[in-house]
Amino acid sequence: MKTMTCKELGGVCDERLQAGSWDEMVKTMTEHVKENHPDVAKDMEKMHNEDPKKWSKEMRPKWEAAPEH
Ligand SMILES: [Zn+2]
Repeated sequence: MKTMTCKELGGVCDERLQAGSWDEMVKTMTEHVKENHPDVAKDMEKMHNEDPKKWSKEMRPKWEAAPEH
């Protein structure tokens, strides 16, 4: 498992999100912003529509760098 904060993933709060894989983290983060930050969710959706790979290109290295625990 790895832990990243919402903020590290382009969000706005310090909530810690846990996942066992990058795909799971993407899902967890998506659900988290939809539930807690509708504005961020809208921005991320817009970003995704413009360039589907942009978000993961920026965030995935942070995931790779996060320590396993
Ligand atoms: Zn958050």
